[in-house]
Amino acid sequence: MSRVLCDCGHVIRDGTDHLPYKAHFLPDQNVDILWTKIVTDLTEMVEMTLSGRRKEWLAKHFDERYSTSTLELSVSEQISDYFSIVYGNHTGKMYQCEGCGALLLYRGFRQSPLKFMPVGGATSALRKIGDDGI
Ligand SMILES: [Zn+2]
Repeated sequence: MSRVLCDCGHVIRDGTDHLPYKAHFLPDQNVDILWTKIVTDLTEMVEMTLSGRRKEWLAKHFDERYSTSTLELSVSEQISDYFSIVYGNHTGKMYQCEGCGALLLYRGFRQSPLKFMPVGGATSALRKIGDDGI
């Protein structure tokens, strides 16, 4: 999703990282599912790597074309790619229009957004949350 046209006419661009008007959301019903999957899969990766079967693990978690190319990647790159896929399969994205403040929530890649308007026109709802949670 590189850009979204809001009903107000503002174009919301998504072509880079760290956007102050974009967020990912993890439904509470997906939290345990996601963490259990990550812990299970990465434990399996370590065990299979220790027994010389990492290639088998890659084939199980990536498509054939990708698993062949991942052999050239570092372990951290493989884990990052794995995490990106699994995280993307369990989370949604949301954008806040900088023009009108509308919150556009996407539950899936090809679905139309759910639209919410903030009371009082509040903006910057999706900006960075610091280590202090604020
Ligand atoms: Zn708008």
